[in-house]
Amino acid sequence: MINQERLTSDLQQLGQFGRQPGGGITRHALTEAHQNARRWLTERMQEAGATVHVDGAANVIGRWDCGLPDAQSLVIGSHLDTVPEGGMFDGALGVLAGLECARTIQEQGQSLPWHLEVIDFTDEEGHYNAGTFGSRAMLGMVTEDEINEHKTGTTCIADALASLNLAPQGVLTAKRPARDFRAYFELHIEQGSHLEQGGYDVGIVTGIVGIYRYAVSIAGRRGHAGTTPMPARQDALVRAAPIFSLLPAWCQAQSDQLVGTIGQVELLPGAVNVIPGQCNFTVELRAMDSHHMLSIKEKLITCVKEHPKSRMSIVLEKDSELMDEALMSLLERAAQDKKHCRMPSWAGHDAQSFSPHVPTAMVFVPSHGGVSHSSDEWTDFSQAARGVEVLTDAICQLAEDERKG
Ligand SMILES: [Zn+2]
Repeated sequence: MINQERLTSDLQQLGQFGRQPGGGITRHALTEAHQNARRWLTERMQEAGATVHVDGAANVIGRWDCGLPDAQSLVIGSHLDTVPEGGMFDGALGVLAGLECARTIQEQGQSLPWHLEVIDFTDEEGHYNAGTFGSRAMLGMVTEDEINEHKTGTTCIADALASLNLAPQGVLTAKRPARDFRAYFELHIEQGSHLEQGGYDVGIVTGIVGIYRYAVSIAGRRGHAGTTPMPARQDALVRAAPIFSLLPAWCQAQSDQLVGTIGQVELLPGAVNVIPGQCNFTVELRAMDSHHMLSIKEKLITCVKEHPKSRMSIVLEKDSELMDEALMSLLERAAQDKKHCRMPSWAGHDAQSFSPHVPTAMVFVPSHGGVSHSSDEWTDFSQAARGVEVLTDAICQLAEDERKG
């Protein structure tokens, strides 16, 4: 049995690092608040018998060695960094779930056929880069260019690493072969309201949705807002507007397993007395099934083609990542005394760095009102504990299954 009181106390203590006057938590990767949280975590892992080291990508790795020479590692991972004024569960719960799981296994005197690693990955939230930096570095998916890349308004991760006396080039040494890993598990808050609405205790994640992003530019002709009569106008905003209202309708007609968002709109020249000559906007689509996203893409292309000199370019076309079927069944067995369901993850996680290479699984626990990336983010401690229980039971079951051969 896991210790819910201890898990609760961990969550509360960790939630003090980077706590803002308004109640949210700001712990950007590699900043002082984040480093303090990592020191706290390191001490807790050492107390629980782990050896802790920091790899070249600044990932913090606690390892409980099984003593077998050629053993693989089973990893439980997530992240301690947050968005600005975020909540105390996103990421932190996953790392603490790993810690609690390791302690419980120690206390039960269980021996595992693999090393157990609990990992806090660097910059999952993408303060410096595209996000999931540490886990991508571990699987060899970070390039030298990305290490030196500047996102507007922030220092680059190379500078942040250097300020901690870590050589930026060392990021490449964080890479490990996939055969090092027996499996990767991550527990996370849902960040949506599916579990809460259905009264579920846990969600067994089937995969992480694909994300397609496009940059659209609709051309018009700029002109004087007073002297140009209405019939003579070629207003770029007016041309783009039908797409804004059609996108939600297209998505709903296509499938309830597809979402589409126009999150950025820019008018050029962007003056109160000038008819817009150009309307630039982004379109983001998310779905497990890429065929849904391609169907919307076709509709967009057709609309853009109606306007001369308008264009659309691909920013990202990343297909969904599937979780491991055997591990999903294992989690379902561990959750049989709880109300559980299978569901996709509509948000990205470190798990998606592992899933193409290593058997990977995720457990979700309910988020109150589906709220996340906010100081209002909340999950009841008892619900968090139920998730950790499922994770721990599943890992113990897997160990037993493998011992039996
Ligand atoms: Zn997260």
